[in-house]
Amino acid sequence: MTIEHTHDGRHVVFFDIDDTLYSSSFMIGSAMVERVHAYIVSLGLSDETAFNLRSQYYSQYGLTLRGLRRHHGVDPLAYDKECDGSLPLEDMLSPDPCTRKLLEDIDRSKCRVWALTNAYRPHAERVLKILKLRDQIEGIVYCDYEEKNEDLICKPEPAFYHRAMHQAGVNDPTKCLFVDDNLNNVEAARGVGWIRSVHFREGLPETIEARVTHTDKETITKDGAPIINNLQQLREVWADIFHQMEH
Ligand SMILES: [Mg+2]
Repeated sequence: MTIEHTHDGRHVVFFDIDDTLYSSSFMIGSAMVERVHAYIVSLGLSDETAFNLRSQYYSQYGLTLRGLRRHHGVDPLAYDKECDGSLPLEDMLSPDPCTRKLLEDIDRSKCRVWALTNAYRPHAERVLKILKLRDQIEGIVYCDYEEKNEDLICKPEPAFYHRAMHQAGVNDPTKCLFVDDNLNNVEAARGVGWIRSVHFREGLPETIEARVTHTDKETITKDGAPIINNLQQLREVWADIFHQMEH
């Protein structure tokens, strides 16, 4: 992994990748679930057990693979090849110019832009390339499927957020901004002091005006993270890191 020690005082915004930098309407998530299910069945387990374990491990560990490695001795690289690696992403995903413009409009004199994903690096790189966003992302913090430790380190483990800070070269957790579609990951980020984290919850009907006023309980999570239903709303939630529009 690349380790950088910039400590230059700028903020760092960490974007989750899957179902955050692209819409969940592309149905990548359900295609992943199908493959993971088939992989667990291929270990000799029943459909019902596979269904339960996938769900249980995802909830318990933040990453189904983490439970499969711990309890079933699964080889992460073989898993990755059969699951994320077999997705026909080039046929499923397409870039969104509005998302690219959003990243372009972040003032890089104030803020650096990283990705923070539980996927392994090849999947992360592939998605960012298809979305035509790779050049906008300074670095990728990914789950290292070749990790020699007993456990894979991933969101929502605090150690993963600390690793992200180390890799991105930022000391102050209050300078870390984070957006993720998984509430557990957002809450964990706030737990390590990333107080400006945002929960991306696609498909909510509320307007941004309603969402940024804290009178509506649906506008913030229970521990105070803003909820957005469109990434463009980051322009309001994090107005200080975007280039100011001339009027
Ligand atoms: Mg996600």
